[in-house]
Amino acid sequence: MPSGTRSSAILQGKCPHCRQGEIFKYSVWSFRFAEMNPSCTHCGISFTPEPGFYIGAMYISYAFNIVLLIAFGVGLYTFTTAPDWVYVTSIITASFVFIPFSFRYSRILFLHAFGGIEYDPKSSS
Ligand SMILES: [Zn+2]
Repeated sequence: MPSGTRSSAILQGKCPHCRQGEIFKYSVWSFRFAEMNPSCTHCGISFTPEPGFYIGAMYISYAFNIVLLIAFGVGLYTFTTAPDWVYVTSIITASFVFIPFSFRYSRILFLHAFGGIEYDPKSSS
């Protein structure tokens, strides 16, 4: 995927304004995965368009978890003859393992979609 596109910026967690700066301070693999930069490290635009902005990202996170639940449930049903407790524990375990991803990508998608921040190619140089 070419860098500098909107989809690559979303996948890499980059600023919607310049597509260069990082939205999150640490790696998704870090225990501090949830810490966001208050503003872009490259262009300085604020990542909090209004107070409580990221409450809406919960809905995207919820949708991610529903998709994960259905995918795991259908996958287990199709490929195994597991008892019920295996379904429950696998889905709960998967939900916990994917918390950093669903947390970050729900916020990244929400900021790109509803943050009201337009891409400005001049700010990326
Ligand atoms: Zn930026």
